[in-house]
Amino acid sequence: MNPYLPPIREDPQPDDALCRKVGHPDDWFPTRIRDAAEPIKACWRCPLIKGCAAAALDTMQRHGVWAGVLLNDADIQTSRDQLREILK
Ligand code: SF4
Repeated sequence: MNPYLPPIREDPQPDDALCRKVGHPDDWFPTRIRDAAEPIKACWRCPLIKGCAAAALDTMQRHGVWAGVLLNDADIQTSRDQLREILK
């Protein structure tokens, strides 16, 4: 586990998004599947994960890592099902 990651807060704020604090923002839009592992791991520790999943669904995102899910434009329905699982 990365010791530089902040603790999860009870009242997450937008600035708590780990994609704003870890690595480079482009890391959340990997061009190779194997490069998605690190951002996905960070997402699973992010206090905003549920809000992020809802935002990705609401705004119909088709690319990038959102809420720990690498959105697959070729199978976007499966990606959206994975995001909905996070909201349960
Ligand atoms: S869950 Fe969303 S807000 Fe949090 S690090 Fe991942 S992409 Fe960023």
